[in-house]
Amino acid sequence: QDEAAMLQSHQQLEHRLLEVSDERSALQELATHDPLTGLYNRRFLDAALPREFARAAREGKPLAVIMLDLDRFKSINDNYGHPAGDEVLRTLAELLKKGARESDLIFRYGGEEFVAIMPGMSADQALERAESWRKHMEETLVVYGDVKIGITLSAGIAVFPNHGNSPSQLLANADEMLYQSKSEGRNRISVYALL
Ligand code: GH3
Ligand code: MG
Ligand code: MG
Repeated sequence: QDEAAMLQSHQQLEHRLLEVSDERSALQELATHDPLTGLYNRRFLDAALPREFARAAREGKPLAVIMLDLDRFKSINDNYGHPAGDEVLRTLAELLKKGARESDLIFRYGGEEFVAIMPGMSADQALERAESWRKHMEETLVVYGDVKIGITLSAGIAVFPNHGNSPSQLLANADEMLYQSKSEGRNRISVYALL
């Protein structure tokens, strides 16, 4: 009888350990990911960018940073409602995930702003990738209930080592290029160029 009781409490303990392990994974997922899109979150970018930057510098390889932002996204919420806007965000997230290489890291940086970090990618390759995302988004209609939503994106690119010699400078220069894409009319990509 003692043995049976011991076996049972052992099984209960094992079961509880599995539960704790699940809870830990769920917490870890929450700490590093954005719940709406499943992409990495901004907090994780703060840890990942310096790490990838250091690795690129050590290995003498380029590191591309692409910052993307949906164009006139506020009007989607205003016209179709917030849940429709959420669906647009998920659609873009899926587009960014698709075709990303194993080493690429994609983040939801803010509301409708996304960042891609691409180890080993040159400025030309990053431009090609961003251009393909831009074109796909332009051609995609997001279906939400009865409505079909068309939307475009703008992006800015900065690539280590030519366009910044610190993680924050790289990000700031990509952001500056995103701002340029916006001010030049949106639905376009700009690459940082040293003057
Ligand atoms: P621009 O072309 O200059 O980028 O214009 P915009 O309207 O996209 O930019 P703005 O920054 O004015 O608006 C961003 C909007 O994104 C405002 C905010 O309500 C919305 N937003 C932020 N987070 C979320 C979210 O999680 N879901 C939804 N549906 N909307 C969000
Ligand atoms: Mg926007
Ligand atoms: Mg924005």
